[in-house]
Amino acid sequence: MVKLCEGSPGVYLEAARECVGRKAYAEGAVNAWWCVKYCEEGEPYGMSVEGMQSMIRESQAVLRKCKKHFESNRLSKTTFVYGCICRRLLWLYKNRNAMRRISEATRKKFDAGHVIGELAQRLFPDGVDASAIDADRVIDMTRVSLPFNIRQQLWLEQTDAWFRTRTVYEAAFVYDDVFAAVDILVNADGRHIAYEVKSHRSVTDTILRDCALQYYVISRSCRLDDFFIVYVDENYLDELGLTVEEVADANVDIERLFVVESVMSRILPMQDEIRAKVRECKDVLAHGEPAVKPGEQCSTPYECMFAHYCRRGADYSDGYY
Ligand code: SF4
Repeated sequence: MVKLCEGSPGVYLEAARECVGRKAYAEGAVNAWWCVKYCEEGEPYGMSVEGMQSMIRESQAVLRKCKKHFESNRLSKTTFVYGCICRRLLWLYKNRNAMRRISEATRKKFDAGHVIGELAQRLFPDGVDASAIDADRVIDMTRVSLPFNIRQQLWLEQTDAWFRTRTVYEAAFVYDDVFAAVDILVNADGRHIAYEVKSHRSVTDTILRDCALQYYVISRSCRLDDFFIVYVDENYLDELGLTVEEVADANVDIERLFVVESVMSRILPMQDEIRAKVRECKDVLAHGEPAVKPGEQCSTPYECMFAHYCRRGADYSDGYY
């Protein structure tokens, strides 16, 4: 668990300096941020106004230094999959995120995915969640515009502290500037087995590519002995007369709800393809908005969140906008 200190602004500032000294930039930024927050709130620590202002200036300098280590065009599992669907989708997601329009149907699918993911954790009940990071503080930090990558860094540190000895939910790793978190990473007496949970009823090519990317990233830090996809057993759902969206509120038999299928032999041969695709995605992000005409990719596998923008009648003649 990331350790944050308690105390006066001076204690936080001292901790921030110490963190930067040992290159723990995420932790340093959090401590510096708390120093600023307490100074600005004027908490009665017996300091002069000048003293407080000086501390704020120094903390902000520490924050700037830390932030530099989190500014990158890092890919994630999500952005990689978007890049495989459409180069323009990847670019827009990273650069014009505020323009997204997510339909109610897609939102329901995402929500169902979260519910199914939590249900699947019951198959391995002794795990710890690496993504559960002092949520209040991280949310607060967004007020000073700390990049999301800092949250990823805390998440990575927690995974690193736990995965060698415990089963970890949302186990996160980074390699080749790609961030990937697998839903469940089981530690079975030193053997590591990854389980990726999907609310789908079968294994699709998109799911396989998603898992192949995870293997590409995770296997650099953790030798994986097997990789499984956990998906919903449609026969059991039909028997219950439920949709995936309705499973959360139902009394279901967790063991019967899921099909667990190894995909190791299918994702290993995909590693060269994944490496090349990562290069391609990074190249997309290094340039301007790609000129991709709307087509089948806009509605398959789901309605694109930027369809309203791309279908507005743009001129594609220049190659780039
Ligand atoms: S609407 Fe179509 S062309 Fe535009 S980003 Fe989405 S998938 Fe790509």
